[in-house]
Amino acid sequence: MNDGNNLKKIIGDVLPKEAGFVKAEYEGPEIAVYVENMAPFFDDDSHVKRLATILKKKVIMRISFEGKEGKLGMDEKEREDVEKKIREIVPPEAEITQIHFDEAFFEVVLEAMKPGLVIGKRGLTLKKIIEETGWTPRILRAPTMPSTTIKGIRSAMLRESARRKKFLTALGEKINTPPPAEEKSKWVKITALGGFREVGRSCILLETNNDKFMLDCGINAETIEPSRAYPLLSEISVPIDEINGIIVTHAHLDHSGFVPYLFAYGYECPVYCTPPTRDLMALLQFDYIGIMNKSGHNPPYTEKDVRKMLQYCVVRNYSQVTDVSPEVKLTFHNAAHILGSSMAHLHIGEGLHNLLYTGDFKYGKTKLFDQATTDFPRIETIIMESTYGGKDDIMPLRRESEQLLTDTIEKTINRGGKVLIPVFSVGRSQEIMLVLEEYSKINRLNFPVFLDGMIMEASAIHTVYPEYLKKNVEHRVLSNDSPFESEIFELVKNNRQEVIDGDPCVVLAPSGMLTGGPSIEYLKHLADNEKNMLIFVGYQSALSLGRKLQDGVRELALPDEEGKLKRMPVNIEVTTVEGFSGHSDRKQLISFARNVNPKPEKIITVHGEDKCEELAYTLNKLLRIETRSPAILDALRLR
Ligand SMILES: [Zn+2]
Ligand SMILES: [Zn+2]
Repeated sequence: MNDGNNLKKIIGDVLPKEAGFVKAEYEGPEIAVYVENMAPFFDDDSHVKRLATILKKKVIMRISFEGKEGKLGMDEKEREDVEKKIREIVPPEAEITQIHFDEAFFEVVLEAMKPGLVIGKRGLTLKKIIEETGWTPRILRAPTMPSTTIKGIRSAMLRESARRKKFLTALGEKINTPPPAEEKSKWVKITALGGFREVGRSCILLETNNDKFMLDCGINAETIEPSRAYPLLSEISVPIDEINGIIVTHAHLDHSGFVPYLFAYGYECPVYCTPPTRDLMALLQFDYIGIMNKSGHNPPYTEKDVRKMLQYCVVRNYSQVTDVSPEVKLTFHNAAHILGSSMAHLHIGEGLHNLLYTGDFKYGKTKLFDQATTDFPRIETIIMESTYGGKDDIMPLRRESEQLLTDTIEKTINRGGKVLIPVFSVGRSQEIMLVLEEYSKINRLNFPVFLDGMIMEASAIHTVYPEYLKKNVEHRVLSNDSPFESEIFELVKNNRQEVIDGDPCVVLAPSGMLTGGPSIEYLKHLADNEKNMLIFVGYQSALSLGRKLQDGVRELALPDEEGKLKRMPVNIEVTTVEGFSGHSDRKQLISFARNVNPKPEKIITVHGEDKCEELAYTLNKLLRIETRSPAILDALRLR
């Protein structure tokens, strides 16, 4: 489309002379335009808008340091001066938490509790910073509660920023180099590498004549046997360097857990996801490595590989149309499953094919998110999840579920027992936290709610992205009334044994299916007492310990402190409260397929055991469209 010279000419023609256009560079899917003087754009952004329309790309404007001695490689004193100036310009209520200089991007990174106040009314504060310091700010929101993940990711990004800049420039060139007319794509095909007629290790290879993308790349955390735990990449021998990008719909390990493995084996291409997905998946991957090591198993990758992955993440918000290759445009849409979860819409070729991959989604009410999107520009094929697609998978109304949950908790506390709720640290735990927080406002709670594992950390990440939450929750986070910080919640640090030996309480602990992590530790100590209660609030897959307990197993064999298997009776009361799932139930899956606009030609079902076939059969009968439920390793031509 645009070679370097052509690009220069277009930009030079559009921008006013007094801006002093210096250069433009692709930066992944965006374009960075460097000028000497930003003032002409302060009151009139029409030039930048026109440029974005002509180039069909997001345009980032920055002040160039080229030829300006002293801007780069500033010494301590000069940095301090700029910092001081910024703190003078920005009102103290903005609560700046960090100031860093990212020299590779010519930007000053400002982290603040109230980013809106750093920008100021009509962007006035921001303009003043640019005018008086010559630095272009990049503004980040600080979490309202401490988060080592956010801190770690942000400082790692800065450390590696020069390498990241190089990667983004090269990626931009690749995305903007179209194939010759006679080599345009003519076909589209998918191959099932994981998560087909099963739950876990979701992975789809999407291919056209010219491109290869991976849609999700997860693991099945219930097993350590590679042939069942990991996507079957080696079976079809795709060379890693031929993959243009990995698209991750959300952070759960069954969708993101295998991504760092590819980096361990030399993959150096982009990972497309939303900003919260990047942060949450890193949190879960680090946690996974820790759990594997602790249980004496070799994790498939190291923390170094996760950090490398972070450098290659290209984050996009919902509804941002993004070129991911010369022929493929990607747009994320709200999936309402967990923070940052998305449906991936792919526009392939000029009208060759439009594919919607739903990932996990909730087409129904939750406390955290707005309902999943159903409006799209064009769709020919939908690949949709079917976790609860069976004919008996009808969930009760949310109101009834909440009542049952709080009644069950009250009953247990009143008889002197403890309640263990195994939850995913991301998703179900925050949803249950909001239910308990709301309940505590009406009924004084006389017991604490302990949060173990990564739940508190994951909640902190929610406070960095309030715009991804439902309006009322967003409002509370923004006005110092975050429900995640309610006094009913207590973090378990080194006092797990005290919690176990202590007074009646509620414990939220991962993993959600009792496949590892702190929830197992609590179970070991709470299982023999019939006053205690185990409440399942989420999906329990076929191989999990959770499913076995749901099915009525009354004796467990679990490793003790020395790692020896110990038999123990299950006297704890076991119950399941349906209705809190982040997945759509059968009714919601069917309504989604019925309401999605425009109507697709074909629906492919994934992410379900026998439910994939059941849902495919039902949708075919009800909607009279072609449906398929491929088996793992099947390949299917879409066009
Ligand atoms: Zn999920
Ligand atoms: Zn999933």
